[in-house]
Amino acid sequence: MFIAQDEKGKIFSLADYQDKPHELLHVKKSKRFFCPICKNGLELKLGKIRTFHFAHKKTESCSYHSELESEEHRNGKLHLYHWLKKQDGVTARLEHYLPDIMQRPDTYFQCHNGQFAIEFQCSTIDQTLFRKRTQMYLEKRITPIWIVSSKYINKSSSTMYRFSPFLWLFLQQAGSSTRILAYHTSSESLLHLSSIVSFTKQNAAANMEIIKLSELNITSLLNRQPEFRIPKDWLIRVKNHRLKPTLHETKEDRNFREKLYIEKQLSIQNLPSKVFIPVMAGYVFENHVFQWQTYILLFLDKFSLHTSFTTTLISKHLKFLLNKEYLKKRYLINSPDLSLPIRQYLDALCTFNYLKKTKDNTYIKVKPFDWNDTIDNLLKRDKQILIQKKT
Ligand SMILES: [Zn+2]
Repeated sequence: MFIAQDEKGKIFSLADYQDKPHELLHVKKSKRFFCPICKNGLELKLGKIRTFHFAHKKTESCSYHSELESEEHRNGKLHLYHWLKKQDGVTARLEHYLPDIMQRPDTYFQCHNGQFAIEFQCSTIDQTLFRKRTQMYLEKRITPIWIVSSKYINKSSSTMYRFSPFLWLFLQQAGSSTRILAYHTSSESLLHLSSIVSFTKQNAAANMEIIKLSELNITSLLNRQPEFRIPKDWLIRVKNHRLKPTLHETKEDRNFREKLYIEKQLSIQNLPSKVFIPVMAGYVFENHVFQWQTYILLFLDKFSLHTSFTTTLISKHLKFLLNKEYLKKRYLINSPDLSLPIRQYLDALCTFNYLKKTKDNTYIKVKPFDWNDTIDNLLKRDKQILIQKKT
């Protein structure tokens, strides 16, 4: 931690002393420091390698476990604080304690009459705690800005990433897209991931932008509304699925494979191209993208032509599948209702002329679905369908 109280209760911040070791040496000899939260004694650590910081002499009694703080966390925290502090119209406070919710965000700041809390997360935390802290901030009308350490961003190809359940927690909606903010301490850069589309439980496509903190302004970051763009490796991922299916199978995968075989005598490699549609809110489901989309298609398949139906009907059916554990929901903060991915998918089926939208949330089936095709044709069609979706 960087903030302490002296004998008189005055706040002493190390934020502006990182390049002043001699002054700090003098301070260390002349002052005693205490934790602003538990009031126990603190030691000023002036090592040669690590950032100058305070540490509890005894840690047991303090709710603020700063001793577990890594050097990465300390550095990132200082960078983000200094970055905010020098911007016009921003009042930033490092490690500002909020007694009524007992939270101490890395940086608390006010800007444009709004209150914000930056939390730079360098170690995994439990989903329940993550939710609880988010909730507490929101109740105090403070918008939490969770930034994950860049070490949790793992690429599997140029636009595909491995997503752990921990990383999914950082997903937020921004404009018509989704995003995750990450920070890379040594290059002092923010990683801005947007258009995050879930492919499997632990794989998603995303577009990443790397922005130097010094070239970024907090207002533009808060107002940034990324456009949803289909990440470029999506097609490769679909192709891999068709040509190199994974052997590992979960309970949901097995249920899916069996249902597909019973209803259509189809293998998962030969699924139609229209069940690999990258839709923004698809992350609502933990399942493979083709699973929830196929379930919708199989349901609509039973309708005769010119039947009219609503998203509510599809929603009911998917809820039934969720209860039966054919589908699994990904529980995130501010997760949208099922109707959002459903609508986005049905709208895509309209683009491919299978459905027609008559009014909000109401559609008519206008073309029967084709299920059987050769792998060669399917691979060609996968490509065409993405081009069609884009335009
Ligand atoms: Zn303490």
